Amino acid sequence: MDVKNVMEEIVWENIDRVLREVPDVCRCQKCRNDIAAYALNHLKPLYATTHKGEIISKASTLETQQYLDVIAALTMAVKQVGKNPRHD
Ligand SMILES: [Zn+2]
Repeated sequence: MDVKNVMEEIVWENIDRVLREVPDVCRCQKCRNDIAAYALNHLKPLYATTHKGEIISKASTLETQQYLDVIAALTMAVKQVGKNPRHD
């Protein structure tokens, strides 16, 4: 058994959905990493136990409010990173 922050996966699963809503934001790997990190810093971690590499608790088990929190954090992150990309 292992312990994993499922929130990381959920953020990566939803980052494209949020980026689609904000067309004029850079979506290179560097900015995507920054967006994910920013969002994760504003979300409570959600730890789950994994068994043989399988994650038992997945995004589908998220409560609606938690899902809305993820989208809100990602939207904030996209705006923030979009305003100040760490490259030219
Ligand atoms: Zn970029």
